[in-house]
Amino acid sequence: MPATAPRPVTAPTAAASDVAMPAAGVRPTAFLGSFFHAPRYGEVELLERALIEVDARGVIAAVTLPDAPDYAARIASAREAGTLACLPDGTYGLPGFVDLHVHAPQWPQAGVALDEPLDVWLQKRTFPLEARFSDLEFARRVYRDLVRKLLSLGTTTTVYFASNDLASSIELSRIAAEAGQRALVGKVVMDDPAANPDYYRDASTAQALADTETLIREVASIATTTPQGAYAVVTPRFIPSCTDEGLAGLGRIAERHDAYVQSHCNEGQWEHDFVQARFGKSDAEALYDFGLLREKSIMAHCTFLTASDGELFARTGAAVAHCPISNSYFANSTCPVRRLRAQGVRMGLATDISGGFSPSLYDNIRHAVMVSRMLEDGVDARVPQDRRGAGEASRITSAEAFWLATAGGAEALRLPIGTFQVGRAFDAQVIDTRVPGADLTGFGVFDAPRDVLDRILFLSTPENVRQTWVQGRLAFERGSREA
Ligand SMILES: [Zn+2]
Repeated sequence: MPATAPRPVTAPTAAASDVAMPAAGVRPTAFLGSFFHAPRYGEVELLERALIEVDARGVIAAVTLPDAPDYAARIASAREAGTLACLPDGTYGLPGFVDLHVHAPQWPQAGVALDEPLDVWLQKRTFPLEARFSDLEFARRVYRDLVRKLLSLGTTTTVYFASNDLASSIELSRIAAEAGQRALVGKVVMDDPAANPDYYRDASTAQALADTETLIREVASIATTTPQGAYAVVTPRFIPSCTDEGLAGLGRIAERHDAYVQSHCNEGQWEHDFVQARFGKSDAEALYDFGLLREKSIMAHCTFLTASDGELFARTGAAVAHCPISNSYFANSTCPVRRLRAQGVRMGLATDISGGFSPSLYDNIRHAVMVSRMLEDGVDARVPQDRRGAGEASRITSAEAFWLATAGGAEALRLPIGTFQVGRAFDAQVIDTRVPGADLTGFGVFDAPRDVLDRILFLSTPENVRQTWVQGRLAFERGSREA
């Protein structure tokens, strides 16, 4: 088992109603409080005044509700052992969020130049920025800040595109492991000299494949030092930046190592048309033919998937990373979440920093709900109402978006996370609804559990996220004096 628990990263703020913790230096193994989760798509469950017990590996061993005969005895026993943490009234545990698509080196670019078209944004801003990550010190500075930021927003598991540089990609995995975040990290392959700038691409296809194998080996070694796990991801940037030989080689590596795969799948009209012109088939079909659409594949965007593409995803077990904010800028379309879910496609939520400007999955939950309604209703009032929308029921509820950000991401990654169920890792964020200036109590009005959760999902600010737990360990505490 791993070494010492990571030190929690902290951010200063005014004190509020704090979680009652065991004595300093003692890790709690029992959590008493009220917890929301979404074990089934579209349904929310409140575990009110539940006792969640966690074993030494950080895995949930028991969930006991007040009507259980041994409820009081279990609480008394944890209290006596000095391992009980109590969430006060007005605070709620939510599962840690799973962000399925983040470009870590684009963090300095978040919110910048989003008025540019995608090709200008990439060539003038993104590629020169990503190229700077061959400077390990610069990379460390940015990556540490990003990991800390994501933990502070309740994100406990992240699937990262690093850059084209191998050493700093490995460093990102190490930084996340040390900060206590569960990270899946890929070194980005861009091996086609005709498609990428000379200053930012792989030296050769052979080198790109060798670097990917090295990443898998190095991250496997990092994984042995961290309780929450660390995973390497085979990462062709997207079909237009890779050679056929590179794509096929990456497919073979993924199969040989049973590795995760990530890429972009028809992010926008240009990519969709490019792949059609190059191969005479859809992006999904081409990725499948290269062995890249498989179990543990995470494909970002997927806004142009046809019904038969959706079947291919469902059959192979590949998952969609839905990036609603990014899609509003660069996709020229909206991902049909409800249609793909009805086909049985695995799907979670993602920020797509920095095509999406916000590092918060809360912002993306909100936007996922809003764009799904615009997809259903349409947006141009000059078109008659019966023809204005997508012609199918597309709207999703906040409960569905909450599922995408938690259990859906877990299902996409095939990891035992995302809900408060026995056998899953205790990954949690503690939300305080009584923070001055960020009050989510609703003043005693509309206090049904679903109303409480909706206020949290739609109105919470970073101030409301008091603690973030990963694999039973405290990874972030707002206002902690520990540095
Ligand atoms: Zn992306």
